[in-house]
Formats: sequence, structure tokens, C-alpha cells
Amino acid sequence: MNKERRILLVEDEPGMQLTVMDRLEGEGYKVDCAENGLDGWKMAEIGAYDVILLDVMLPGKNGLEICRDLRASGIKTPIMMVSAKTQVIDRVLGLKMGADDYLIKPFDLIELTARIEALLRRNGIEAETASDETSFSFGSFRIDYPDKAMYRGSEKVELSFQEYKLLEFFVRNRNKILSREKLLDGVWGYDEMPSTRTVDVHVAWLRQKLEADKANPVYIRTVRKYGYKFVSD
Ligand code: CA
Repeated sequence: MNKERRILLVEDEPGMQLTVMDRLEGEGYKVDCAENGLDGWKMAEIGAYDVILLDVMLPGKNGLEICRDLRASGIKTPIMMVSAKTQVIDRVLGLKMGADDYLIKPFDLIELTARIEALLRRNGIEAETASDETSFSFGSFRIDYPDKAMYRGSEKVELSFQEYKLLEFFVRNRNKILSREKLLDGVWGYDEMPSTRTVDVHVAWLRQKLEADKANPVYIRTVRKYGYKFVSD
């Protein structure tokens, strides 16, 4: 089942490279390894991978910069950021840069493979559901699913990768009350985020771009003590 699945590992520690490659190849994945940030970035830009495992601390170009630049150039490959516990890296920052998941070293190889499978599965599901509907309009806005973009009239509204994902999730589940946990699970994909505040932060950013009056939102309504509801016909 894992045949043909290609993983790019961007990692500068030889020990980690060996351990992770050995395990993933044992699971049937095809793994390429980049030993520094610049090589990793160039390899990832080709867009031929199913998942990118991206270390944060790298020589040449760090993982956060690589992630940001890949998303900026439209590469949508699922990215799992990996960082050492001793590094004071804000997990939210990694996710803000467009990473899909985040793993702290040292990690269990079992956990690593489970997370990779979850990323692949989620990506597959996303691709499937995206096929029935190609766009959705509300107010003066239009979401274009294949483009992964939102337009106001004919003008494109700048959204970060995670803002877009959250918006699409809201729209696909419009007029339903969604708990913060459900949003975390559906958009970020796992339920062990340190805080559901991540959702609130992203909702606030989206409201800035969507709502005429942020204090009285029309589209993304707050459901007190529970979560949010995207309201539209
Ligand atoms: Ca490193």
C-alpha cells in the first residue's frame, strides 16, 4: 500500500538520517534525503513528494524558512516539522508557516509512521471531497478549491496556508456548529495541540479579512463556550 509513496527527509544529523530512512524504507516508502536546508528546499520545490519531513535547525536555510517559501511558491505537499525539545521553537509559528504537523525529537518511530500515514490519508480525503464542488460564493467572496484561493470580486485575498485550510473547512461544514477540537482535528489533523487557542488565533486572522465589522461577525460566528459556526446560505 505504501509503494510509490515518496518522502523527502531534510535532516542534517547523520544518526537521525539513518534511523528514519531505515524505518521508512522498511515500511515500503521511497525516501530521499537532503542534508542541508538549501538542497532540501530545491528538492522539495520540484513537488514530487507525498510528504516532507522537515527539521527546523538546518545549515543553509532553516525549516521554518523552507516551509514558508514552499507555501509561497504554491507547493502543497504535506509538511511535518521536526524539532528538538531544547529548541524554543513556537509550534504555532511552524503551523503558521504552513506546516501540517509537528513532531518533537526524540520521537518514537511508531509515532512517526502513524503521523505520516495520517497525513497521507488526510491528503487523499481532501483530494476526493474537492472533486464534487469547485468553488463556493458567499457575499462578495468566492473560494476556488482547485486554486486554494479566495477572491473578493476579481481580487485575490491573501491568505496563509492554514487560514485557507481553516476557511475551506468552515465552508465545507457551513451552518454547522463546530467545536474547537473538531476544527483542530479537521484542519490541523491531530488532537494533541497544546492549546485550542491556535483555532481562536486563526479565526481572528480570518475575520480580519472577511468581516466588515470584526466585533459583529456575519460569517464566522462565535458559539459561546463551544466553538464556531460559519453562516451562509
Ligand atoms: Ca538539525
